[in-house]
Amino acid sequence: MSTSAVSTSAVNTSSVTVIGLGPMGQAMAGAYLDAGYRVTVWNRTASRADALVARGAVRAATVGEALVANEVVVLSLTDYAAMYSILEPAASALEGRVLVNLSSDTPEKAREGAAWAAKHGARHLTGGVQTPPSGIGSTEFDTFYSGPRDLFEEFKGVLKVITGTDYRGEDPGLAALYYQLQMDLFWTALTAWLHMLALANANGISASEISPFASGTLGGMGRFIDFYTPRIEAGRHSGDVERISMAVASLEHVVHTTRDSGVDATLPAALLETFRRGAAEGYEEESLTRLIEVFGRGAAAK
Ligand code: NDP
Repeated sequence: MSTSAVSTSAVNTSSVTVIGLGPMGQAMAGAYLDAGYRVTVWNRTASRADALVARGAVRAATVGEALVANEVVVLSLTDYAAMYSILEPAASALEGRVLVNLSSDTPEKAREGAAWAAKHGARHLTGGVQTPPSGIGSTEFDTFYSGPRDLFEEFKGVLKVITGTDYRGEDPGLAALYYQLQMDLFWTALTAWLHMLALANANGISASEISPFASGTLGGMGRFIDFYTPRIEAGRHSGDVERISMAVASLEHVVHTTRDSGVDATLPAALLETFRRGAAEGYEEESLTRLIEVFGRGAAAK
């Protein structure tokens, strides 16, 4: 019995199933093949597995077959609803599986997903991957994980084939929460750059001409974060460096420049509106860091 357990475990740590072969799942399955793992794959659109099969992956004919093939099952799906729609019909094959769920969703969905997996006898690790497909297979970037610590420790070696690991805690929602916090920043910052490009283009300036300036500004944001964080923690929002009244005037200039250029001003106008709310709440002469409270009150009111 113990011999068979050892040999099963040896096989299990060098073989995985990957379900979901969008750009991310394909990169993950590819990383496992590169690392010498035996890889079983399944995807709703079967043809997305073709290139991986040509490289040596095994295409499971059914989801059930994909689940029973390996103890570790990596899920890379659009959201948790996709997981239920794929796995519910094959739920009897979940017993004893380790679901490494790298699909993005809310913390609450991740908690529900972990409970659902446990109900079917599977263990669940929530993951939030912090790199696009190009970074998969490298430990240069980390994936947030949460769920049972012993489960994370047991399979850390398997997880490290995908990216570096950053364990956030036992609550299954934590990895999803940290991931969404990063996405909150990521989408806003990247969309701001796209808006900048539209404004530049409308004025005859190309992406390659303006983008170095964008990189300089975004690259310098860390210095702002380092400067403001201790002041925020200390409750210090004095207007000794900048004031909300200045930001309102500056954003009005951005909005007017945008409209004068015939470009959609929805994005800067939303920022202007937020700063005006800060001014109306009495923070006109204080730092923009007061917006944390302005945003926070909005959430509380909902
Ligand atoms: P995609 O949305 O392109 O693909 C995800 C997979 O989900 C596909 O295999 C798709 O199947 C499957 N799928 C979606 N809905 C269903 C459904 N109802 N039933 C069955 N299968 C379904 O995502 P990515 O590969 O880009 O990313 C995967 C996850 O990783 C997402 O949660 C994403 O937010 C996250 N992520 C993505 C990054 C990126 O740069 N792409 C970076 C970091 C995280 P089919 O092929 O049949 O359509």
